[in-house]
Amino acid sequence: MNEAQHCPLCQNEMIWQRKTIRYEREGLPITLEGVWVRVCPACGHELVPGPLAIQLMNLADQLFRSAKQLGEETNLPMPSVHLVFPETDEVPLALLQSV
Ligand SMILES: [Zn+2]
Repeated sequence: MNEAQHCPLCQNEMIWQRKTIRYEREGLPITLEGVWVRVCPACGHELVPGPLAIQLMNLADQLFRSAKQLGEETNLPMPSVHLVFPETDEVPLALLQSV
């Protein structure tokens, strides 16, 4: 079920690791810490599984829209956002099954 994925750059077998991902949208920095991604141990290439990447972008979009509205209504400057996903012992099954 959990077929090994190979690096598109160097064909090595990729492993799962928790990584920090950063987005920047019109002056709002968003840091997501502890995201499970596939990493190539040989060349360091990182792959976020497609469904997870979409969910993370949605999350960042919603944070951005809320922060922008807050700024327009209060004149507060853009905050920085830092989310931490807690450590889990194993890669969540839904991620293992995603491509
Ligand atoms: Zn590689």
